[in-house]
Amino acid sequence: MSNPTGRSIIKYFLAVLLFYSGVLAAYRFFKTRILGRPDLSILMYHRVLDNPWASAVLTQPGMAVSTEVFDRQMAYLSKSRQVIRLTALAEAGRSLPRGAVAVTFDDGWRDNFTNAYPVLQKHEIPATIFLTADFVGTPKSFWFLSVSRLLREGNFTGADLSDIVRKATGIQSGSDTRPAADHTGVTGSVDADPFIESLKDLDPETLERVIAAMRERSPAAADAGDDDKPMLSWEEVIEMQSGGVEFGSHGCSHRILTRLPGAQAQDEITGSRIIIEERLGRKTDCFSYPNGDYNAQVKAAVEQAGYLCAVTTRGDRLAAKSTDRFSLRRIAVHEGISVGPRGRFSKAMFVWHLARNL
Ligand SMILES: [Zn+2]
Repeated sequence: MSNPTGRSIIKYFLAVLLFYSGVLAAYRFFKTRILGRPDLSILMYHRVLDNPWASAVLTQPGMAVSTEVFDRQMAYLSKSRQVIRLTALAEAGRSLPRGAVAVTFDDGWRDNFTNAYPVLQKHEIPATIFLTADFVGTPKSFWFLSVSRLLREGNFTGADLSDIVRKATGIQSGSDTRPAADHTGVTGSVDADPFIESLKDLDPETLERVIAAMRERSPAAADAGDDDKPMLSWEEVIEMQSGGVEFGSHGCSHRILTRLPGAQAQDEITGSRIIIEERLGRKTDCFSYPNGDYNAQVKAAVEQAGYLCAVTTRGDRLAAKSTDRFSLRRIAVHEGISVGPRGRFSKAMFVWHLARNL
């Protein structure tokens, strides 16, 4: 964990001041009653880890919350807000209880079962988990986990990576037009996030070649291996379903739908629904756009496939004021948004984050 900075200390004291003076409550009143913003918050989680700072997600801190902080967040919600199921929210439309909250998880990580589920049960919080249908019960996982681990352990330079990407894309197209991006930060070490971002446009075969080339160039890092079972199994999913957790679809393979030909996007949207419904014997009503990306065609395909609603990711301007059931906006939650300068849970910080993002 990093040391508290001056900025984080000021932010924390400001949150405490606004919370305990009642300003935050007034702010929420202003936004919802005066400006007419819907008084509901759909929270978006990914991973819940015992020690987020020790594991591979360190390269993507926005994806994790610690089990301890998650427990405190759920305790606060169960006491202070009405937590409802996402499908109930989609069905209820505007007649929602004031300050309604829905808790959602993307991707289908195994820690949702081992770490989040006991906390959800303890506080009787309903939740929705969006499964990446092809990954459930298999060792398949997200390519970015392999890439970020290889980057961390492999001593790649920006030039190495540009070379790898150029060769991998060259084989496919014959004439590579992709610019050899410079992935080297000011310190000379490789910055994982922009590199991962630049790979998102590649088709799966090319991506495979990039990862294979990275492994080849750094055999020691490749040998260290990935976590062999990071995703949920169907048994775990079924157990959680009987405990009141609802499941939605996050596509089959997590490919970004706006970058696929229409028929392939359709397969991801409809195929995942069929797989999940067959396994769970229950309707799959909610969809979560992989990477949060959608357009008019993708949205229409989700609606036609029979889903009741679809969620986006925060930062999505299209969805900001919308009450459209197929572009429901969410508030991203991770460790940093609800802890004080010493890394402990702060109710004021959490409430501030929710109010700011209404
Ligand atoms: Zn995802």
